Amino acid sequence: MADLTYKSKINHIRTFALSLIFIGMGIMYVGLLVKNVEWLMLIFMIIGMLAIVFSTVVYFWIGMLSTKAVPIICPTCEKQTKMLGRVDACMHCKQPLTLDKDLEGKEFDEKYNSKKQNDHGK
Ligand SMILES: [Zn+2]
Repeated sequence: MADLTYKSKINHIRTFALSLIFIGMGIMYVGLLVKNVEWLMLIFMIIGMLAIVFSTVVYFWIGMLSTKAVPIICPTCEKQTKMLGRVDACMHCKQPLTLDKDLEGKEFDEKYNSKKQNDHGK
């Protein structure tokens, strides 16, 4: 689960929702494998269904978040991206962005700097 690349929050949640769909389908598939044990199949089907329903809810939630996100033009790649909260990363080039001038050069930049050093190490 250690994903060191910084993703924009919306992309992150989207990846989570997508993996939930696959997990749900996987669980339902296991349900089909045990279909001769009716109650077990039913349990797998219900859990699988719930995972898929939950991912739909998450997708819906992303839609809600997107309307709240602030659209800005990324200074690095000059594409339009959306920001969630005070700090977020560009959806296209993963450039960390901040809306809050006070946060510039603080915590978030620190992460960014260490990440940049890792990139140089590769
Ligand atoms: Zn960008």
